[in-house]
Amino acid sequence: MKRVEASKVAALKAELVALLPVGCVKDDESSRETYGHDESDMGNFPSDLVVFATCAADVQAVFRACQQHGVPVTPVAARSGKSGGSLPLHGGIALSLERLNRIVALHPEDLTIDVEPGVITGEVMRAVEAVGLFYPPDPNSWEFCSIGGNIAENAGGPRALKYGVTRDYVLGMDWVLPSGELIRVGKRTIKGVAGYDLAALFVGSEGTLGVATQITLQLIPKPKKVLTALVIFRDVLSAARAVSAVLARGVLPRVLELLDDVSVKAVDGRGFNFPVGTGAALIIEVDGNVEEGLWVELNEASEVCNAHGAIETLMAQDESQREKLWAARRMVSTCLRQMKPFKISEDVVVPRSRIPQAIEAFKAMGQELSLTVATYGHAGDGNLHANILFDGLYERPKVDQALARMMRLTVDLGGTITGEHGVGYAKREFMALEQGEGVLNLQRSLKALFDPAGVMNPGKIFPSQ
Ligand SMILES: Cc1cc2nc3c(=O)[nH]c(=O)nc-3n(C[C@H](O)[C@H](O)[C@H](O)COP(=O)(O)OP(=O)(O)OC[C@H]3O[C@@H](n4cnc5c(N)ncnc54)[C@H](O)[C@@H]3O)c2cc1C
Repeated sequence: MKRVEASKVAALKAELVALLPVGCVKDDESSRETYGHDESDMGNFPSDLVVFATCAADVQAVFRACQQHGVPVTPVAARSGKSGGSLPLHGGIALSLERLNRIVALHPEDLTIDVEPGVITGEVMRAVEAVGLFYPPDPNSWEFCSIGGNIAENAGGPRALKYGVTRDYVLGMDWVLPSGELIRVGKRTIKGVAGYDLAALFVGSEGTLGVATQITLQLIPKPKKVLTALVIFRDVLSAARAVSAVLARGVLPRVLELLDDVSVKAVDGRGFNFPVGTGAALIIEVDGNVEEGLWVELNEASEVCNAHGAIETLMAQDESQREKLWAARRMVSTCLRQMKPFKISEDVVVPRSRIPQAIEAFKAMGQELSLTVATYGHAGDGNLHANILFDGLYERPKVDQALARMMRLTVDLGGTITGEHGVGYAKREFMALEQGEGVLNLQRSLKALFDPAGVMNPGKIFPSQ
């Protein structure tokens, strides 16, 4: 990666130290290293400076200075990203938004909340649930990722099946453009169709078109009751076929998660024991206000699963049993990581009817290349976390081949290369598989319109030309 020249950085540093509050500009090795990596396993890319914004005006000052000096700037939030979006590939500035971490105002009567981007997602969930409201987007990283990062990646989670993803809850934002101009996009009302939907464009822009400095989120009333079941299957294909069948029966669970044989084996006995003979499982969760109706829905879903070869359905009887089950689900990624020294986690999406085909093809590919492939995730909306586990970097060429085949297979099945982690640095070379040159060029033109100097998070999303 070509790095920015030292003389430019030195001039920029002097200017920012004079402009920003004391302690907001760091260039010690430890800070540069820390803010140079995320959860993507794409490597470490230390920036030249780490700058902590404390308000929108700080962000504006940093962006203006970066434009003027031609120094790249990469927004950084909680660094839980899995596509390398926050990696300062070319050095320059890592701009941390973590100190912008206030819940500004909760408006229960309007069902909205105003937050700064550095607020941890779980804090928003807890704050609104305390007054009987609900913020549904639930990336499994909600305990440590931030709203700003969720907006940049348009994060989703298990509940997306019924409730949608981050974009569906962002009404409006204070947004600093790469030029340093602060604008307000979107609205504060639930409806509103005036002009182009710029808020929707910025959500999912992966830190390449500017940053959010304050966000108005839509809330909904919190469902009063949640019921959860674990359905056991002998094999993953039966479980995968049951996914579409449950929905076709007219039941819309809030969660329909799948675990294949490798994933079940990875978490079995770690706080939760799966019945003997479990070869795959579905977690089905329904919510609403009338408990009897929910039991009817869950039983219907269970019947459909039985017709597709389920061998047992375990209904969580209380909150502690639900929590045990979810704790096991949340541990899948960590436990898979412990099975082999290296793991790459993909987040492809295929049409629901193609889930069995996708899983079968990924497994066959793993066998052919002697690689362990584990597939789990949000099967209800076709979003599969297909993981490749391997022993050492000597296997990397084979793994790269497997990844390319996985992306190609996904696109051939009518799917998309990423359902929630974003393209970032990790998947940019796969973009051309899914999107034609015309669409890619249109997006490049948009990027150039917002960021003519090309200093805003360079090297992300678009394939190298
Ligand atoms: C164990 C684990 C489980 C996960 N589960 C899920 C899941 O279920 N669903 C899911 O969607 N993701 C999941 N993720 C991925 C990750 O948590 C999400 O992508 C999350 O949205 C990233 O948030 P962050 O605060 O860590 O952002 P970072 O990783 O720091 O940054 C992500 C992107 O946001 C940009 N950015 C940061 N702040 C701003 C801002 N204020 N304005 C504009 N751009 C900004 C950065 O430049 C970067 O491109 C998981 C990750 C882990 C480690």
